[in-house]
Amino acid sequence: MPYQHILIAIDLSEECHPVMLRAQELAISSQAKLSLVHIVEPMAMAFGGDVPMDLSMLQQQQFDQARERMHGFASRYPQLSVDNRHLVYGQPRQEIHRLAQEQGCDLIVVGSHGRHGLALLLGSTANDVLHGAPCDVLAVRLKKPE
Ligand code: AMP
Repeated sequence: MPYQHILIAIDLSEECHPVMLRAQELAISSQAKLSLVHIVEPMAMAFGGDVPMDLSMLQQQQFDQARERMHGFASRYPQLSVDNRHLVYGQPRQEIHRLAQEQGCDLIVVGSHGRHGLALLLGSTANDVLHGAPCDVLAVRLKKPE
C-alpha cells in the first residue's frame, strides 16, 4: 500500500532540506499528501521547568520567530499548502505523535544524525519519535557538517 499522508518533522535548520526532499520524492511516488510540523519547545521545559520568572513574552517572541522561519523554509516548497504547515508548542515526541494521529498520517519523516557513543546515550529526536509512534517512521540520515 502506498503512503497516503506523510508528516515531515523539521527543526527549521538548513540540515532539514534533505529530509524534506526525501519526503517529497516519496510523496510524489505514492501520490501522498504532505504535511510539515515544527515543535516549539516551551522555555520552561528547556530550563527544566523551574524558572521563577514570567516567560510569556519571551515565548511569544520564540513562537513568532519560529513562524517566520517556518514560512521561509516552506516557501521553498510551493506544493506545501499553508493549511498543511503546523507550528505547535510542546515536547517534540508527544506533539509529533499527536499530530500524526490527529491528521491520519501513515508515515513520519525525521532527520537522523546517526549518533553513537555518548551522544547515543543522550538520545535523539529521531529515536524518541520512533518509540510508540502511531505509524511508520522514516529516519533520513543527515550528513555531519564539514
Ligand atoms: P535531533 O535529534 O534533535 O538532532 O533532531 C533530529 C531530527 O528530529 C531533525 O532533523 C528533525 O527531523 C526532528 N526534530 C528535531 N527537533 C524538532 C522540533 N523541534 N520539531 C520538529 N522536528 C524536530
